[in-house]
Amino acid sequence: MARYNLPTGMRYSTLQERKQFYTYEFNLHKVSEWFDKWPGRVKFAVIMGRHTGIFPEKYREDASTTIIIDEYRSLEEVKQEIIEFSPEAVYYDRSIYDEKDQKIGQELAFDLDPENVVCPTHGSLEDKMKRNQGLSFCETELDMVKQEAVQLYESLEERFSDLRLVYSGRGFHIHVFDQDAYKLSFQQRLEIAQQVKKEGFHIDEWVSSGEMRLIRLPYSLNGLVSRIVLPLTKRELEAFNPITDKRCKPEFLG
Ligand SMILES: [Zn+2]
Repeated sequence: MARYNLPTGMRYSTLQERKQFYTYEFNLHKVSEWFDKWPGRVKFAVIMGRHTGIFPEKYREDASTTIIIDEYRSLEEVKQEIIEFSPEAVYYDRSIYDEKDQKIGQELAFDLDPENVVCPTHGSLEDKMKRNQGLSFCETELDMVKQEAVQLYESLEERFSDLRLVYSGRGFHIHVFDQDAYKLSFQQRLEIAQQVKKEGFHIDEWVSSGEMRLIRLPYSLNGLVSRIVLPLTKRELEAFNPITDKRCKPEFLG
């Protein structure tokens, strides 16, 4: 298991802590609100221990597998499955499907991660990869990526009208809920992603183009850093500090 350097107070969650979080703290009501206008059925996904190497022993064979949860009758059932797997990460599928499970659209999203910014102390992602620290990040990078998120949000506001901003536990996600954006083709998404990168934003092209269709579920636990995935308004983001903000700290941190 690789050891990553993380900002003060951020660390892997234990299996017991994950279970405790999903049993007592996970806010299903907020999750359901997130999908209020979702056209179709939501597919969820979990990964138990791909990065942390922490997983329930009985699921050792599937520890690194992406497990899709799409056969459920209620969100409560989804929650029970999540508790059973006690995963390091929970995602949802941004693709939209019809009743015959054919893909009919996809939510557009932007993923800004701190490891992608060039840090005055730790260098570029390439530098960090050379030291086997590809997932490490520091407080400076976190702050830099936060400023980028504010700027990208403002830039996207000129083009879209229904944007959601989310602290992912590492960096930030911007979700586009505009109905029109669901219909964009792969090529159009790729062009938007490339343009945004040209403007200097350190986004993950794979996410925006749609090749990576999974995105971290808001209000879930990011088990790599022990932080709650938290939607924020742009105003809230400007004053947000994930090291100290109580809203993104699970109870087990005390
Ligand atoms: Zn750094």
